[in-house]
Amino acid sequence: MGIKDNVKHLLKEIPANVILVAAAKTRTPEEILEAIDAGIEIFGENYIGEAKKVYTVIGKKAKWHFIGTPKTQKHDLLRRKTLEMFDMIETVDSFEIAIEVDKRCAQINKVMPILIEINSGREPQKSGVLPEKAIELIKEISGFQNIKIVGLMTMGPRFGNSEDARPYFKKTKEIFEKVKKIAISNVEMKYLSMGMSNSYRVAIEEGANVVRIGTKIFGLRK
Ligand SMILES: *Cc1c(COP(=O)(O)O)cnc(C)c1O
Repeated sequence: MGIKDNVKHLLKEIPANVILVAAAKTRTPEEILEAIDAGIEIFGENYIGEAKKVYTVIGKKAKWHFIGTPKTQKHDLLRRKTLEMFDMIETVDSFEIAIEVDKRCAQINKVMPILIEINSGREPQKSGVLPEKAIELIKEISGFQNIKIVGLMTMGPRFGNSEDARPYFKKTKEIFEKVKKIAISNVEMKYLSMGMSNSYRVAIEEGANVVRIGTKIFGLRK
C-alpha cells in the first residue's frame, strides 16, 4: 500500500478527537506532499536540518512539530527561522531549554506552544523529565510569557509487543490528570502525545489525543 492508502486507513481508524501527527524523519518533500494530499495536516520532525529542507518546499501548507532532542540541537533550535517554522515543540524537558526558547521567542514576538516530554520509562539514555520531577518543572516554567505549556508527550520504551507500553502511557496520563487538577496558571493540559506505529492503539486506549506515526504511513525507513 502507498502513503495515500495508509493515511486514509489511519484517519478512518483513529477517533475523531485524536490528532494524527506524521513523523517525517528521513522523508522527502514528495512523500510529505502525498501525505498532505491524503489529509495529514501536521508533521513531526526530529532533525532541524532535515526539517528546514522540506520546509523550503512545503512551507505553511502543513504545520510542523519539533519532536527531536532539543539538547543536542540547541543552537539550531534557537535560531529565528527555526522558531518561526515550528508550530509546537513537543519535547521540552528542562528549565534550561524552556528559558532559552522563551527568551528567543520574546525577540520574535511569538508564544510557542510546548509539550513537556516525560521519560516515562526512566531510561537513562532517553530524554524527557522524570515522572516525579514533571510537576516541579511545569511550575518553574509556567510563568514564562513566550512559551505556553499545552500538554505532555512521552515515547516510552520500545517494545515488540505494544501491550508492554501500556504502563508507561498510564503513568503519563496520570501526570496529565494531576497537572490538570492542580490548575497551574498559564498551563493548559490539552494535548497528550503518545503512541507510535506499533503502539498507537494502546496509547489511544490510555487517553492519548495526539499520536505520532511514521512507519505505518511512509513505510520502513531506509
Ligand atoms: C520516529 C518517531 C515516531 C514514529 O515512529 P514510528 O515507529 O515510525 O511510527 C514518533 N515519535 C518520535 C519522537 C519519533 O522520533
